[in-house]
Amino acid sequence: MKNIFLSIAISTVFLTVSCSSESDDFIETDPQLPKLYDFNYNLHSSLNQYYKDSIKSIIGRLEKIMPMKPYIEISTNKQVYGASVYSWKKGVTKPYESLIGDTDQCICGYINNNLVMSLQMTEDNLNGDGKFKYALLAHEFFHLYQHYNSKGLDLSHFWLIEGQAATIESLFVKENYFDSNYLKNFLNKDIILFDNAIKKVSDYEGYGEKENGDITVFMILSLSKILQTEGYSEEEAFKMIFVDFWKSSPQNSNWKTKFKEIFSLDVEEFYQKLNNYKDNPESVIPSSNLMIKKIFN
Ligand SMILES: [Zn+2]
Repeated sequence: MKNIFLSIAISTVFLTVSCSSESDDFIETDPQLPKLYDFNYNLHSSLNQYYKDSIKSIIGRLEKIMPMKPYIEISTNKQVYGASVYSWKKGVTKPYESLIGDTDQCICGYINNNLVMSLQMTEDNLNGDGKFKYALLAHEFFHLYQHYNSKGLDLSHFWLIEGQAATIESLFVKENYFDSNYLKNFLNKDIILFDNAIKKVSDYEGYGEKENGDITVFMILSLSKILQTEGYSEEEAFKMIFVDFWKSSPQNSNWKTKFKEIFSLDVEEFYQKLNNYKDNPESVIPSSNLMIKKIFN
């Protein structure tokens, strides 16, 4: 009996490997893991019903565009089954603090086998006209997707991680709420000192308080333009940035090598090329017909 089971297991491995060049496919189909990525919701009574419904429906929509499966983290061997979402309106106390700690807006830690998505919303976020309350959901969802593709997000790199999440949130707002100013605000020369920022651009590799931190969106969009000049379509270029780079499982020790492998470009060379776009930052805005779902299908 044991041998039959073993031979089935081996043929499953063989089939999986022979169907795909992705070495991580076997991990994704590991029989110990649940089949579906789990989202569960802890939405506090301080939120209005409209926003509670928005959280679930927006995350549901994003899941269809960027599907994920349970996985095993490469460096910790931890099984990740999904995400537990905690959201509340900012007040005197944090209602979930005893469970998830003193968090604001982040993917921060785990509850059992789920990553924690913490969504603290201010009164202004919730009741103002701004699109931030929706954009934040796309932003934090994309961080989960970075974790999923890299099997644990073993990189603490500000411009690649946050620049991408902010780019996705902007594209999401443009596409779903017809607001292209949201993205343009990330490229505003009156707010960002492009010359100063590009001179010290490697500072944006690390987290921490940053002047001109919004330049990270410009960096991601410029990378897409550079890839397009090499012959990739716009969708292909963004897919390389948003998916392929993370699938290479970059770590702090090797991310520059992975960057070169995926984009055929040295990081230092990329930093220099930013100068080609800085005088007209809006020139890196994606074409108006770019759809998020076309990037990920
Ligand atoms: Zn973020």
